[in-house]
Amino acid sequence: MSLFRAEGLVKRFGGLLATDHVDLAVERGEIHALIGPNGAGKSTLVNLISGLLAADAGRVVLDGVDLTALAPHQRSRHGLARCFQITSVFRNDSVRDNLMLAVQAQSGSSFRCLARRDAEHALQQRAEALAQRVGLTEMLDRNAGTLPHGVQKRLDVALALASRPRLLLLDEPMAGMGPEDSAQMVALIRSLASETAILLIEHDMDAVFELADRISVLVYGKVLTSGDAAHVRGHPEVQSVYLGTEAPAPLTRRREAVR
Ligand code: ADP
Ligand code: MG
Repeated sequence: MSLFRAEGLVKRFGGLLATDHVDLAVERGEIHALIGPNGAGKSTLVNLISGLLAADAGRVVLDGVDLTALAPHQRSRHGLARCFQITSVFRNDSVRDNLMLAVQAQSGSSFRCLARRDAEHALQQRAEALAQRVGLTEMLDRNAGTLPHGVQKRLDVALALASRPRLLLLDEPMAGMGPEDSAQMVALIRSLASETAILLIEHDMDAVFELADRISVLVYGKVLTSGDAAHVRGHPEVQSVYLGTEAPAPLTRRREAVR
């Protein structure tokens, strides 16, 4: 049984069918990339999966549990986490406080049975472990708002990891990054695959082909095809469709050219 299944998901915005009966499975341990041209419906699909948007039809199932009727925070308790946009970071708080808040928000009652000081200590330890996980140990006492963009993105990932997800949704984690930060993010995402499955939306094709075990191509709200990198590269419709109205270009071209 797949870890995660979206079944027949539909989302309409007025007359626009943004998500057109999408079926998608993510296996345990898998990094599954979702690619497609701008406006294909990638973010809408992630929003349907995380519960930020309600689907007009279809189901979202994680580990056999139907999450369709649940709110985002309830889905997160079942092991579904999404990487929020930068705005979810409390910019005036330290990295440590951001992480402690995230851990506390996700911990339910598990710290409540401890005495106050022990609870605080346990929260701090978990926050520090998360910082270490994403390479932010040196920056625990920095104000989150003062961190460079690439580092904030890694904090964002750490905040999502606070809920110990089984499926992590990443919507363009490399957006706006230079090559160095991108390379660090690629390494981080790869290292996460041992603890959580990942659904990765990313425009950086170098990163997608480097990371993904499987790639699904979304076009006009529909899954055009799904398969490994070789399958997607060789698919007759993918190259022209993925690049929309631009002249077809090989999907292997360098990331600078893709931007
Ligand atoms: P992608 O992430 O692949 O670029 P989106 O999911 O953001 O695509 O958008 C898919 C389509 O749905 C686009 O045509 C977009 O304009 C439309 N859309 C997205 N969100 C909304 C919304 N809240 N209201 C109306 N239309 C929307
Ligand atoms: Mg998008």
